[in-house]
Amino acid sequence: MRKSPSLSQAATEALFKLALIAMLLLALVLTGCGQSESATNQSATEPGGKKLSVVTTIFPPYDFTRQIVGDKAEVTMLLPPASESHSFEPTPQDIIKIQNCDVFVYVGGESDQWVNEVLESMDTSHMKVITLMDCVEVREEEIVEGMEEEEEEADETGGAEAEEVEYDEHVWTSPRNAMLITQKISDALCALDTENAGTYQSNTVAYLTKLKELDAAFTQVTAEASRKTIVFGDRFPFRYFTDAYGLDYFAAFPGCSTETEANAATVKFLIDKINAEKIPVVFHIELSNEKMADTIAEATGAKVRLLHACHNISKEDFQAGRTYLDLMSGNVEALKEALD
Ligand SMILES: [Zn+2]
Repeated sequence: MRKSPSLSQAATEALFKLALIAMLLLALVLTGCGQSESATNQSATEPGGKKLSVVTTIFPPYDFTRQIVGDKAEVTMLLPPASESHSFEPTPQDIIKIQNCDVFVYVGGESDQWVNEVLESMDTSHMKVITLMDCVEVREEEIVEGMEEEEEEADETGGAEAEEVEYDEHVWTSPRNAMLITQKISDALCALDTENAGTYQSNTVAYLTKLKELDAAFTQVTAEASRKTIVFGDRFPFRYFTDAYGLDYFAAFPGCSTETEANAATVKFLIDKINAEKIPVVFHIELSNEKMADTIAEATGAKVRLLHACHNISKEDFQAGRTYLDLMSGNVEALKEALD
């Protein structure tokens, strides 16, 4: 993940730019000239005008926005349900959706760096752009004992630029950050759509109350727990979460790692931890193959449980209208078991 500039990276970026230009041209052909002109936010404040349109990349800001606007605005998530957020690539239709929206919300981390190139290539004067990472206090990505670091790309310039600070992008995994993000999105929507601002504000107050209850539930579980350490036979995207509730953790890979197969030493390290501290649960995250968690469970007798990081949700959950609060409530129960 900590990639240093290299020839192959430069080539990849050049290719990406070419692909982006091709997509934008296609987008222009598909929309017809000048149509994006008509999609300004002005209409949102006119009586009977078009609804405000909000586009988000991943699930959490999509759900937060949905809770704020109810049926008063259109909310679109670009990431298809059940798909992997770190390898997402926008289609020409996605580019059109971004170009035509009034508010665009993305993470601002390393897995959606494609957004920067997309925004640079279009006229964004009519839209409000929000990144999740600007809403909160960001923390550096962490490598803890036993964790496998991804192999660094060979640095041909001698290593001076290799130590670039990498911030953890999974800011939404802490309910406290979810509150900050919700407030920021709400403020932007109220400013753009004064006609519906009253509704947005009261929905926001109600939603923040629920997030506060969620936060209190996690605080209570950790306060009453007999242990403070959780173990992941998987990637670990919960830095902000464990920091918020004073938990320690061990995991196979950092949050955005593309690795799924751990080496034997990593698996042994996690097995030994669980055995030594008699930890009752080994976690996996959503949309995982769960193989490593299963292996660790077989060797230790620990139960396998899901701690949902909410990057994305399954098709069934999406269709059932499940929310961040639903997924996080499941996490409260799973954490209770794991800290028992
Ligand atoms: Zn991630």
